[in-house]
Amino acid sequence: MSETTLAELLAAPSVWQAQWPWRTMYAAKIPFESDVVIVGGGISGLSAALQALDAGCSVTVLEALRVGAGATGRNSGFVVPVPSRHTPESLRHLLGDAAQRFVHALQQTACDILTTSSAASAARGWIQPWASHPLPDLIALARGWRALGIDVEVVEREQMKAALETEHYAAGLCYSAGGSVDPYALAQEMASAVTQRGGVILEDCPVLKIKSYATYVGVITPRGEVKAGRIFVAGNVYGIEASRITRQAVSPIALVLATFAMPHAETEPLTGQMPFSDSRKDMWFFRRLERGRVLTGCFALPLVQSVNACCDLLRERVCKVYQRVPVAIEHQWAGWVGLTHDGMPLVRQADERIVSWSGCNGRGIALSILMGRTLMDCLLGRDGIRLPFKSPNYLYRGGLFGWLAQTLIAIDRYKQRRTMLSPSPLPKSSEKS
Ligand SMILES: Cc1cc2nc3c(=O)[nH]c(=O)nc-3n(C[C@H](O)[C@H](O)[C@H](O)COP(=O)(O)OP(=O)(O)OC[C@H]3O[C@@H](n4cnc5c(N)ncnc54)[C@H](O)[C@@H]3O)c2cc1C
Repeated sequence: MSETTLAELLAAPSVWQAQWPWRTMYAAKIPFESDVVIVGGGISGLSAALQALDAGCSVTVLEALRVGAGATGRNSGFVVPVPSRHTPESLRHLLGDAAQRFVHALQQTACDILTTSSAASAARGWIQPWASHPLPDLIALARGWRALGIDVEVVEREQMKAALETEHYAAGLCYSAGGSVDPYALAQEMASAVTQRGGVILEDCPVLKIKSYATYVGVITPRGEVKAGRIFVAGNVYGIEASRITRQAVSPIALVLATFAMPHAETEPLTGQMPFSDSRKDMWFFRRLERGRVLTGCFALPLVQSVNACCDLLRERVCKVYQRVPVAIEHQWAGWVGLTHDGMPLVRQADERIVSWSGCNGRGIALSILMGRTLMDCLLGRDGIRLPFKSPNYLYRGGLFGWLAQTLIAIDRYKQRRTMLSPSPLPKSSEKS
């Protein structure tokens, strides 16, 4: 088999994007002025746009490529209502009294998405399973989250088996406010709400420079300049040109995703519908798609593992979790995730008229929408939840922390191979497929 490169997967359309024509859908004329200009047409920029429209502002969204071209259209679509890289204690330590405000707002945003969007899957709930974890620890963890206002329950092996259709895990936490979406369809739905409410969206329109003047901010694009009152920079780890800052503030790491066709999809379909992402550093995560397919993924470790080896690893994990040998990989792609050293987003306010943020740490559907809404309220001087996020610390950015994260994941992957994959052999193709 010929070797696929990471660059090819980063350029390949995701399983969601592939269902839509890849053409410019928003080609409005660039306005001369706009109360608010948003840089980036992902879910964060679009939610900020909707918030500014609610406040009665004129709004222009400028997108370098297409709406949903960045992480928004390339992710796995798990709606996670909790900052799951944290424990309740570590979150309290970091945010103090604001921890409760933050998790409550995050959970509420997840609920809003799942109840209002037609891109949401019908099955509700998101599970974080543990392969082995003493039950009392999980009970304590659930109690800690509940004290912060999160709806969570401990689920044991039998319940997990019904919800996930796997016996691979001993126990887990089930967050009832979680779920899953088609993230690209969600972005398209939000973009059409923006234009219906009078906002302007321009695709193929990268913002090259942002210049502050005494009475306005100049937003320079290849199609001309917009005079803006307020700017929200939402380029995430995909930030280029005027949004380079949002990429430079975080450590990018690539995730390789794949969908697998499963055997006996018609006669013996898998019935466990809940999406789940486990608690390992080298996280295993799965969700069911229509036509009996399974979506999963893993971090790319370009220095130690080829992309083909990553895909073999994913196939092994599908076998291990579902005890079925997948028929074939149907679709493969990859995307960039922006990590921060403390797992929290970073916010930068250049002056009171310009704000940017990044650092969703791969858990960003609910978070990015919340950040868009909250930071737009801040920019417009409206009341809203005030979240105590930090500014970028350039000691941690880019190479150094990214390499550290990759090393920890590589060690975990190595240990998993030795302790988990080797003892129980994979079912032979002839046994189940
Ligand atoms: C592979 C993968 C899997 C993930 N899985 C999940 C998951 O299951 N659950 C979850 O909650 N989160 C997940 N995430 C994270 C989630 O996708 C992101 O947090 C979220 O989509 C970020 O949205 P955004 O709008 O901030 O950024 P993006 O969607 O990246 O949008 C940024 C946009 O800005 C544009 N842009 C950049 N610079 C400029 C410029 N100068 N001018 C104009 N436009 C510009 C880009 O073209 C891009 O469209 C995943 C991410 C990836 C990559």
